[in-house]
Amino acid sequence: MENRENSAATAEIIPEQMGYNTRFQFQCHKGVKCFTKCCRGIDIMLTPYDILTMRREMGITSEEFLAIYTDIHLLEKADLPIVTLKKLDDEQKSCPFVKDVDGCQIYPFRPSACRYYPLGMGSLSYASELNKGKETSSDDAFFFTVKESHCLGFEEKKEWTVAQWREDQGVNIRDEVNAGWTDLIVRKKTIPMSIKLSEQSKQMFFLVCYNIDKFRQFVFESSFLKRFTFDKDKIEEIRKDDIKLLQFGFEWLKSIFFQDGEVKVKQQDSVAGGVSE
Ligand code: SF4
Ligand code: SF4
Repeated sequence: MENRENSAATAEIIPEQMGYNTRFQFQCHKGVKCFTKCCRGIDIMLTPYDILTMRREMGITSEEFLAIYTDIHLLEKADLPIVTLKKLDDEQKSCPFVKDVDGCQIYPFRPSACRYYPLGMGSLSYASELNKGKETSSDDAFFFTVKESHCLGFEEKKEWTVAQWREDQGVNIRDEVNAGWTDLIVRKKTIPMSIKLSEQSKQMFFLVCYNIDKFRQFVFESSFLKRFTFDKDKIEEIRKDDIKLLQFGFEWLKSIFFQDGEVKVKQQDSVAGGVSE
């Protein structure tokens, strides 16, 4: 899923499909003439893990983060909501966190899309679900290069493999945590458009994926825990750990949307939340 879109439509996607060991030449640093150009006029899609970490590092709730820093869109092919960073209303439509000289003000907890760049990633995660138990590769991610005309990083001499770039940029942990979210979107994209999720289901998707503090309230301060079958250790685990709660949420959505997954859903919840024609 590509999650960085240039509004000026100057990006060229190099058609070569790359694997973990494919090499490419690139370096980004403060000395490049184009420094911070890529942080303006661009839509940065936020993943659930991005929002979880950004709101924590900023010391605000996910609700506040969403209200201040994001725009909500509908991902048409999946008919599911996605969230992007809200651009400033300046001439260049800058990212709210970029400064001319110093660059990114939130660099240690910048979003996944900013870490991946200039790579894009595609995933066939639902296909890998279908192939479970068969003798196929368990990791079917593939990569490609996104070249924007203003980006001079490709003229630098430093070489990387895709795996080295991912390690350097800290995307492995992010992809691991977000895998359930990617899988939900890919699954929804692969079923016919005539099969719809209810509005209530889409709101649940939004709550789980992007508003972790509200989802926590929903789990622990409503009748939620009485309506599902969980073991006590699982409840303690998600009580203490936002990441576990998020991953649990993905599994729960998979169960109510697609009747598939580890969370046991009682009949009335399955019917109310699932897909229908
Ligand atoms: S979050 Fe940081 S790296 Fe990403 S677009 Fe904004 S300023 Fe640039
Ligand atoms: S080299 Fe590319 S990624 Fe780095 S600042 Fe310039 S445009 Fe952005």
